[in-house]
Amino acid sequence: LPLLSRVLRHPRTALAVVEQHTQGISKTTFGDLVLTSSALASNLQRQLHGAGPSRTAYLLPPSSSYISASLASLAVGTACVPFCTSHTVAELSYYLSDSKPKVVLAQGEEFLDRATKAVESADLKGKTAVLDYDEVSSVGDMSADDAYSTGLLATARASLEDPALFIYTSGTTGKPKGVVSTHGSFTAQITDLHEAWEWSSDDYILHYLPLHHVHGIQNKLNCALFAGATVEFLKFDASNIWSRLAADDKPNPTLMMGVPTVYAKLLEESRTLSKTSQETLDKGVDACKDMRLHVCGSAALPSAVMQAWKGLTGHTLLERYGMSELGMALGNPYNGDRHEGHVGLPFPSVEVRICDPDTNEEVPKGSGSGELQVRGGTVFKEYFGKPEATAKEFKDGWFCTGDIAEFNTKINSYKILGRASVDIIKSGGYKISALDIEREILEHDCVEEAVVVGVEDDMKGEIICVLLRLKAGVTTEVDAFGEGGLKGWMKGFTAPYKQPSKVQIMEEIPKNAMGKYAKKELKKLFL
Ligand code: ATP
Ligand code: MG
Repeated sequence: LPLLSRVLRHPRTALAVVEQHTQGISKTTFGDLVLTSSALASNLQRQLHGAGPSRTAYLLPPSSSYISASLASLAVGTACVPFCTSHTVAELSYYLSDSKPKVVLAQGEEFLDRATKAVESADLKGKTAVLDYDEVSSVGDMSADDAYSTGLLATARASLEDPALFIYTSGTTGKPKGVVSTHGSFTAQITDLHEAWEWSSDDYILHYLPLHHVHGIQNKLNCALFAGATVEFLKFDASNIWSRLAADDKPNPTLMMGVPTVYAKLLEESRTLSKTSQETLDKGVDACKDMRLHVCGSAALPSAVMQAWKGLTGHTLLERYGMSELGMALGNPYNGDRHEGHVGLPFPSVEVRICDPDTNEEVPKGSGSGELQVRGGTVFKEYFGKPEATAKEFKDGWFCTGDIAEFNTKINSYKILGRASVDIIKSGGYKISALDIEREILEHDCVEEAVVVGVEDDMKGEIICVLLRLKAGVTTEVDAFGEGGLKGWMKGFTAPYKQPSKVQIMEEIPKNAMGKYAKKELKKLFL
């Protein structure tokens, strides 16, 4: 198991995790991680009574406990099923009923209570045991030397075909689906990024993303563990991040990763200085300048955010494209030009192609858009318990992403036009990318957030509708729509068929936990 053997080979004293507790900061070395996860693995194995392939779910805070739980699950040959810590009993009950794990590890009274209630509500009492993480991870008389030589982490074996990780999709287009990655695809998802982004044991990364999605798990946490780098967990709050970056007494991170909203929020705070002083911001910006790479993805990166971030920190964000089913598939280069609005080329272990969504004929490179299809080492095995859904998404061994893309031969880079189901608006005979229009509107000085949807219309098929959140301090008295407002402004550079028909201003545009918009729901606001 490559991740486990890498963790075992890092120097025992190397710093793996830094975390903030109410009592202060705690630090965990790779040696500590190996000992705790080996002890946990042997207790888990006893619990599971050697019960064939199964799953270990966990409801654990972003911490070294979460990491030990993942390493131990892999070592005993059960797939990891990380749950979202902010989910309610009803939500957890859905994930439990779907994944039916043998055990759920939970830490602390509140998590234990919530997990127990969710198991009851999913009717899994007697089938799924809720275990107190603090009890089952107790090291007892196991020594570090035992852990390294005979512990389960050191002796674990698995076939590349065995399930390693369940990640539930973000639920942007429907009920979240349990994506099963095998040990083979799980490992390729890590090694691809390790290679492409030149991870090393000198790296240090702040981790503030959810640990139940591919971005937080693979791109940030597991790449760092694989490299022998250090992860520092902290809560995302723009002012919190600026003050951490400004801290003189803490190591400077080398890498930064986030969804577009992360960068947009940091920029908003840098403009408004609502809880951050100018001095703190300046120091935080200096820390950014010293880093080697800033990455962004999981949703389209607006050009306005990319440019403003470059203006503030000097970093050209590296935009990449990926999904729960594939890890990362396309990325701008680490060395070389990164192009705005484009997501670069395939990572080492995948191939991509673009196909006509109706005929499935391959569209030659550079001659138009179509569905992006991917095959190769990182691609998942199945949607758990959904053989029809799995079969539907594969054509001749290629996974059909449901995203529309095109290849730009001039700059040798792919561009994502959006999801076929919601982002490709068919209006007056044109096919329009909602993401392109969002990018344009976000150039407007007054606009903080813009969401474009196509709404059914008798005349045009669909019309373009926009939800806007204005920048702090901008009043809605401005004629937001019409000749004096957005429409008049857009006329200067956008063809009439791409101009919005309806605009609605909102205080807050609802998003899911990953900062994504459920566009099918948002459309209803215009009906
Ligand atoms: P569900 O499958 O449940 O509807 P989801 O697709 O949002 O949810 P994820 O697997 O977390 O769940 O997200 C993958 C999707 O995110 C991709 O299919 C794509 O639509 C979008 N995405 C990821 N990166 C980018 C990017 N750089 N630009 C545009 N879209 C992106
Ligand atoms: Mg999806």
